[in-house]
Amino acid sequence: MTPTLAQDIRDAAALLASATDVTVLGHVRPDADALGSALALGRALHLRGAKVRVSFGEPDEAPESLRWLDEDGLLTHPDDLPDTEALLVCVDTPVPKRLGRLAGRVELAGSVLVIDHHATNTFYGGCNVVDETAEASAILVFRILDAMGVEPDEPIARGIYAGIVTDTSGFRRASPETHRMAARLLEAGVDAEAVVRRIVDERPFTWLPMLSSVLREAELEPEAAQGRGFVHAVVRVDAARTVRAEEVESVIDVVRSVREAAVAAVLKQDLANPAQWQISLRSIGIDVSAVAAEFGGGGHRQAAGCTIEGSAEDVVAGLREALERAPLL
Ligand code: 5GP
Ligand code: MN
Repeated sequence: MTPTLAQDIRDAAALLASATDVTVLGHVRPDADALGSALALGRALHLRGAKVRVSFGEPDEAPESLRWLDEDGLLTHPDDLPDTEALLVCVDTPVPKRLGRLAGRVELAGSVLVIDHHATNTFYGGCNVVDETAEASAILVFRILDAMGVEPDEPIARGIYAGIVTDTSGFRRASPETHRMAARLLEAGVDAEAVVRRIVDERPFTWLPMLSSVLREAELEPEAAQGRGFVHAVVRVDAARTVRAEEVESVIDVVRSVREAAVAAVLKQDLANPAQWQISLRSIGIDVSAVAAEFGGGGHRQAAGCTIEGSAEDVVAGLREALERAPLL
């Protein structure tokens, strides 16, 4: 750990230790790292006696598979947040825009603490614990809790574990140090099998017909992405409406398996605005965060996303073009 990061962690710990009222925000359409991190930190502060709310800009409800991480009922609808915050904590969120309708709160808050692992983070807080070498934001939350002298109980450890296990694709990209941290989480009582089953594996039956209709239309372009191959699939609203958001998000994990393509994309039609597509990008050997950035999005070099308007054909054409310019890794 660099001396600067160590100091930032100590500063964050001091800020949180003296806080009595805290709002913790994750990015829009929160994943297990955003919500697991926010709820783990939220519970730690709640147990110390602080008033804590955990929220995110959209959708209105947390993904069903993640709601059981909220042991203390900290999840708060955006409409029920106070007008301004004394201390606002933003986790897994590289830029305020990723807070969606809650972005304006960053300007208004008394203090802002940012906890994130995206290389594209703009350090928009007064205190920023940002480390792009951390595999998950949850790891940074764990380090801050350590600096506060908080030993995670099972629900706190569960939230942290959920973030790590999903952002490392089941520990495949986890360092030895991250495995050591995971060992402490298991010792705190986390049931790893249950976490992975409930958050990653378990699906309603309707997942199967949805996947089948979406994958049948998937296309492989072997010459695209600078000759490294591009595979893409489209989830239109009629397919998306048959399943939970979790199942729509799972499609990229199937499409990315295709060996003939270095880059995989899934176009997810927006339920509220069908002219708009949420794009998930995954890659091996090509920087897809640069591709996402061309469309106002971002993420990591091998996993990124953005929102694009237009027909599915135009969106694919735009991605195909951007992939020809993307830096090789
Ligand atoms: P996913 O495909 O799982 O939604 O996102 C992959 C990665 O890209 C995650 O790290 C996510 O936070 C990031 N990401 C997804 N969409 C956007 C976006 O519109 N803007 C930015 N800055 N990052 C995004
Ligand atoms: Mn993350």
